[in-house]
Amino acid sequence: MAGWQGVSLRTPPDWNLVAVSGDENKGYFRVDSPTSAAVEVRWSILQKPPDNLNARAEEYLETLRKAARKRKISFSAKVKSRKPTPAEENFGGGSVGFTWRSDKNAYGRLLYCGYCKRLVIGQVVSDSGRDISGLSTSILSSICEHEEPGWNVWAMYDLQVSVPDKLKLRRHTLMSSFVELEFASRKDKLVIQRWGLAANTLLKKQSLEEWADKVYMPGIAGYKTSRTSEDDAHKSLMFTGKRGVKTTLLSLPMGLMGKPLPRNIRGHAWFCEESNKIYAVRHYHTGESDLARIIKEKIACH
Ligand SMILES: [Zn+2]
Ligand SMILES: [Zn+2]
Repeated sequence: MAGWQGVSLRTPPDWNLVAVSGDENKGYFRVDSPTSAAVEVRWSILQKPPDNLNARAEEYLETLRKAARKRKISFSAKVKSRKPTPAEENFGGGSVGFTWRSDKNAYGRLLYCGYCKRLVIGQVVSDSGRDISGLSTSILSSICEHEEPGWNVWAMYDLQVSVPDKLKLRRHTLMSSFVELEFASRKDKLVIQRWGLAANTLLKKQSLEEWADKVYMPGIAGYKTSRTSEDDAHKSLMFTGKRGVKTTLLSLPMGLMGKPLPRNIRGHAWFCEESNKIYAVRHYHTGESDLARIIKEKIACH
């Protein structure tokens, strides 16, 4: 699975998100297979469905044709009609398929998603001579399934989680050893982290609690926290806290929103032995909220 900014698709488990750019209005990502195939997805917001998806696909292929001409390589392409996916039947919108062939082969789908109101172009590209038609069909059909309306799937580097769509991505770090996603809305902030190489390095000579006290909790500046160990499927701990008086006075602006940090924090951290990784979720909020636990339960760590 790969997911970014509310656009997600089902890829084989050993394929990895390698490039992201843009935002939810207009953006791009690429997922690479371990061998020479990749899927590229680009999207842009369009409040109304385009009159003619075929024409849009032809337009797109024309830009590729021009690029091929410049490089003096052959290019042939075809646009095909496509059966509506269950999501299209559900939310409206529609799509057309396309293929092109030059120094590489591609199967693509251009769709207008009735749920997220975006024009999305997805294509699976591989070296010529490799038959990827079957795999491409299942990957392309899974774009914009939106199985859980109101929640966006974010999936990359062995992290897969659903996040309420009102929380917007503010910052991210994507490395195989460390992934961090920071989201914010008008009222709250959510930080999701995943450390790789856990058992080998981070937890070799210390417990999860010791690691948390040394490495994780100091990252939560300005909050008076208390933590407890939790007994569930993993070695895990939970913490809650309140913003200290000092920070209330100094109250740093919260990211781009220019709002003071919310009063409460709640979080979870756990070591997943099966995937050999540490995961942590913390939620800055006002009033009561159980979002940190809900997010924890939504992370498919193994
Ligand atoms: Zn969509
Ligand atoms: Zn796990």
